[in-house]
Amino acid sequence: MVVPDIDLDKLVTLVNEHAGIPRRAAGLIGAGEHGDVAGRVYQVFAADTDAERAEALNGLLAAAAPAPVVDEHGAVQWHSGIDSPDELLAAGCGLALLAVVREDGWVRLRTCDGADCADAHLDRPGRQRRYCSQTCLNRARVRAYRERQRHHEE
Ligand SMILES: [Zn+2]
Repeated sequence: MVVPDIDLDKLVTLVNEHAGIPRRAAGLIGAGEHGDVAGRVYQVFAADTDAERAEALNGLLAAAAPAPVVDEHGAVQWHSGIDSPDELLAAGCGLALLAVVREDGWVRLRTCDGADCADAHLDRPGRQRRYCSQTCLNRARVRAYRERQRHHEE
């Protein structure tokens, strides 16, 4: 079976819409479709240490054990002996994250610092973005402002 090529935007969407932790932070109950794979991919973003991130990423790749197959044009596809759609999806996500890590290390894999948000996000190289979106950044600013106001009134 061919391991699917997973676009990084799609990967982040899969994680945030289907993994249990970001869904609970957003007030939703339980994991979504492909919740198990999404939860495992989420761990690569959310782990406390780079060693744990590496372990989570290796776990995504392990079951499908993807092997490169090159054609006469030099195009590479990854093949696997297993046919479980979820394990192929996990391996596809693993290969996509592997490419990021080989290029830029672990620093781009982050989770949102927002109070009601635990979304995974892929930072741009060289940035240290704390929030997944402008919405979460704005909420944090409003919260900090109210905090200062309250302090002021006391
Ligand atoms: Zn967020």
